[in-house]
Amino acid sequence: MNGDLGVALELFKVTKRFGAVTALEGVSLRVGAGERLAIVGPSGSGKTTLLRLVAGLERPDAGSIRLGGETVADARAGVWVPPERRRVGFVFQDGALFPHLTALGNVEFGLWRLPRRLRRRRALEALARVEALHLAERYPHELSGGEQQRVALARALAPEPQILLLDEPFAHLDEGLRRRLRGELKALLDALGTTALIVTHDPHEAQELGDRVARLERGRLKRLETAPTAPQLDDLPVAR
Ligand code: ADP
Ligand code: MG
Repeated sequence: MNGDLGVALELFKVTKRFGAVTALEGVSLRVGAGERLAIVGPSGSGKTTLLRLVAGLERPDAGSIRLGGETVADARAGVWVPPERRRVGFVFQDGALFPHLTALGNVEFGLWRLPRRLRRRRALEALARVEALHLAERYPHELSGGEQQRVALARALAPEPQILLLDEPFAHLDEGLRRRLRGELKALLDALGTTALIVTHDPHEAQELGDRVARLERGRLKRLETAPTAPQLDDLPVAR
């Protein structure tokens, strides 16, 4: 939550290669608890790879990752915590709702660990939080792009993750809608106080959604800009 001084996420000199391609090179960064860090960069700069590493969908070739004080990946020490044991919520680039499940079914899916009854209640609460309760019984094809994204957000938030990862949340929407949804998402994230790492290729989106903005270029973290509303300048990094 806001005001908490803890570090939610820390990457230390993380490198990830795919064969001859170095997708990320020596990336270090920190996200404070309750903070939103936006990472902006062109297509192919390593944004999705960065999120996948945090979620545990990729393993780093070098460096380490800490989530909420726990080391979840350390290439040298051989530490590895699998994705299902990391408390992260992931909103994928295209929303990626299951087409054969209702909005409620989609949100319940992320709560498979809970007993049935509790699962339903928690899923309804999550939908209510993103003001999508009225959409519970609809299937993805019956939802607008923006409504689908809200359901995807509810699905990511329902298990109460330590950190929310957003991968170009509005990439496939047209500009007018994007602008409106960006404002909606910002208001929602403000209200929830959720820690988040948001990647986008759109600098306006980064500025609006992030407390701080870092830039990724060809797998290297370039510089850190501070959004006007950012609370502190001193404690958070980053490009090394
Ligand atoms: P972005 O999300 O910024 O567009 P990505 O993280 O998807 O960038 O990709 C960064 C680089 O890594 C690109 O050159 C991409 O082609 C490469 N890459 C990503 N995933 C894989 C993979 N599974 N296999 C091979 N190359 C990959
Ligand atoms: Mg991407």
